Amino acid sequence: MKYFKKEEFLCRCGKCKMPAEAEANIEALVENVLNPARQSYGKQIFVNSGYRCPEHNAAVGGVKNSQHMKGEAADITTGTVEGNWTLKKLIEENGNFDQLITYPTFLHVSWKRNGSNRRQRLRKYQ
Ligand SMILES: [Zn+2]
Repeated sequence: MKYFKKEEFLCRCGKCKMPAEAEANIEALVENVLNPARQSYGKQIFVNSGYRCPEHNAAVGGVKNSQHMKGEAADITTGTVEGNWTLKKLIEENGNFDQLITYPTFLHVSWKRNGSNRRQRLRKYQ
């Protein structure tokens, strides 16, 4: 995992256990997307949300088929809007991602361990 710890990706409900399949997917997300981004960015990246059990995903208003429930997605931030913009560009340049969604205060990024990655970029702000 290098720059990240498994604990950073545990469900925030505090009650469930991350399934082995989801853990393997998180590891692939870290290796392919997050570690290269962290390496290029050179400063700490914070994980707001990683794996979510279905109950917690519903509780936080996640979409029904959210990749968070498979451990394929993480919401990350550098702590600043400018830093997030830099990070977004670094992830795009690296080219390894399934979805990269830019929100006002964080980035949602996903990676599929099995299947093809779409390199889809979206933004959720005006
Ligand atoms: Zn949970």
